[in-house]
Amino acid sequence: MPYPHLLAPITLGNVTLRNRSLMGSMHTGLEDTGDGGRGAAVYAARAKGGAGLIVTGGMAPNREGGVFPGAAGLFTATDIANHRRVTDAVHAEGGRIAMQILHAGRYAYGPECVAPSAIKSPISPFAPRALDEDGIEKQIADITTAAARAIEAGYDGVEVMGSEGYFLNQFLVRHTNHRTDRWGGDYANRMRLPVEVVRRVRAAIGDGVLIYRISLIDLIPDGSSWDEVVQLAKAIEGAGASVLNTGIGWHEARVPTIATSVPRAAFAHLTGRLRPEVSIPVITSNRINTPEVAEGLLAGGMADMVSMARPFLADPDFIAKAAAGRARHIAPCIACNQACLDHTFSGRLTSCLVNPRACHETEIVLAPATTSRRIAVVGAGPAGLSAALTAVQRGHAVTLFDRSDRLGGQLHLAATIPGKEEFAGLIDWFTAEVAASPISLHLGQEATPQALAGFDVVLLATGVTPRTAGVPGEDGRNVLSYREVLQGAPVGNRVAIIGAGGIGFDVAEYLTHHGESPTLNPTLWRREWGVGDPAVTPGGLAPEGPQPEAPARQVWLLQRKPERPGRRLGKTTGWIHRAALQMKGVKMLGGVSYDAITPEGLAVTINGTAQVIPADTVVICAGQDPERSLLPALHAQGVEVHLIGGADVAAELDAKRAIDQGTRLAATL
Ligand code: NAP
Ligand code: SF4
Repeated sequence: MPYPHLLAPITLGNVTLRNRSLMGSMHTGLEDTGDGGRGAAVYAARAKGGAGLIVTGGMAPNREGGVFPGAAGLFTATDIANHRRVTDAVHAEGGRIAMQILHAGRYAYGPECVAPSAIKSPISPFAPRALDEDGIEKQIADITTAAARAIEAGYDGVEVMGSEGYFLNQFLVRHTNHRTDRWGGDYANRMRLPVEVVRRVRAAIGDGVLIYRISLIDLIPDGSSWDEVVQLAKAIEGAGASVLNTGIGWHEARVPTIATSVPRAAFAHLTGRLRPEVSIPVITSNRINTPEVAEGLLAGGMADMVSMARPFLADPDFIAKAAAGRARHIAPCIACNQACLDHTFSGRLTSCLVNPRACHETEIVLAPATTSRRIAVVGAGPAGLSAALTAVQRGHAVTLFDRSDRLGGQLHLAATIPGKEEFAGLIDWFTAEVAASPISLHLGQEATPQALAGFDVVLLATGVTPRTAGVPGEDGRNVLSYREVLQGAPVGNRVAIIGAGGIGFDVAEYLTHHGESPTLNPTLWRREWGVGDPAVTPGGLAPEGPQPEAPARQVWLLQRKPERPGRRLGKTTGWIHRAALQMKGVKMLGGVSYDAITPEGLAVTINGTAQVIPADTVVICAGQDPERSLLPALHAQGVEVHLIGGADVAAELDAKRAIDQGTRLAATL
């Protein structure tokens, strides 16, 4: 059997799981729509695909504890009936599901938020109200009631969220708990609340599964020490938890914990360290996205189960494909956050960059085509590939052209950036899917109008052409396009980058690194971001702070807009890109007007002052224009043509929009 450890059953309390995978909690946004049917479809698909145990997105125990005002919870009979649809659908597929209870404490985005002490979080505009004794009792009672209602709604158990800096975590550390009563002061008092919550929840749910998510490394100053983590874990076990799940880092931590630049399984050693301290099973998590990594952790004794949240969005059949020996056909989560967490934090429904059907299962339906048509797809980048695969899956006869001799288009450029190595896995997956499909593949072949004659439909996914910046001197030998740079052209030691969009940031990252990418070397990565050991420093921040490698070059990253560069990058990852470049000494400037490129560098005017940025190389990252030169000839031939991806709209194009557009269009043909 492949992956014998991952696929081995495990018993938690009264429930035997068919394997050791846990679909970790993710807020999908569907919780808040009141439409249990769509939520049921999301989780039923993952149960059908073999997930061992599913944990729902966090449900509020009461109004004040919701992550935002009006956040979903089990408050009414209608709520319970809606959740019953979810649990019935999962059980019908042979799956198991627990409901997460999430009390946000001072992270609750509203004026009613409560906390151990009235200390505002740096990531919230709302100062919390410090709870009195009655207030604390109310929170415990509300969490317990939510747990009892979860069992009433058919859940196999609950997860008590005790990590990531939420309410229970806030009681544990002096950073947020300044109380002097029996809920504050020494550690026995500070851990009283989480332990009492677990004891009361256990009493409320009988022999249901009780998962406690424990913070193993807070990554904030004055966080929990390792001895405290162990003391808490033992007390939580004694209070009746069935299993401990791993939490890493508070939300306000300035260390990335799940982004694509974080090494795979970067924190699993901490779960491994906790495991011998308790007798209940432990679950490891964070940046585990392949069955190989999961199997290796379990075989190496790091944990009893593996939590993967985003990978189950990317591919609901993750486990079924692993079990069938088809791991290379698992759509990989590339940890980009672009369609999941970025959507969550901007109030949009969750989706997935590689799988636009995630959480949209009832909306994007891939039914067999009523008539099979001959479809030509021109361009094998993300838009063309997703359209071709969707169309062929629906029964169309698909021919895919690309002038390059390999699939992937601009994804190859992304994969060269240190910290974006996961993009290579996405190319591999597309390649495996195309090879296993009946798509007729024409690589290394220009799709001329003649070659496209005779098709019923042509999908133009021909991508983009890099834009020039129109600066005098741009034709000089010291000027390169981002494409040339990422394809390995020699670059000088001092570089000015024109354009600070996603690609400008990527190029700056590429040019300031040398040697091994820290993403592939956890020791290097921890040093770069100042991740230490909670056994040495409470909270686990390295006492010496971040120690990045010296930059390979001096880089200036410039834009015309008079705003902070990088403001428009991903909601949950933009700060990481900005911090990474700051650590490399990159000078990021907005409000720049470009006067000329000369042998001395880039002449600019900033705030009315003319100056020369001394640069050996100037790199143009000024966005792109659509490449659709085939369009007039195809129109003249009268063939049905659709533009997708960058060929349609180049501005702010990314792989998320390209794949989504390609999939949705092909679903309708
Ligand atoms: P972009 O995000 O549209 O940025 C283009 C940059 O060029 C802007 O900084 C713009 O700033 C500047 N610019 C535009 N026209 C110019 C001109 N005529 N002369 C000089 N500067 C000009 O495009 P991109 O950087 O090429 O990236 C394309 C897309 O790929 C992005 O939108 C992004 O979604 C995606 N991507 C994302 C990531 C990521 O980390 N999520 C990484 C790479 C790429 P000013 O107009 O202010 O000068
Ligand atoms: Fe993973 Fe990106 Fe999909 Fe989120 S959007 S699940 S991070 S691939």
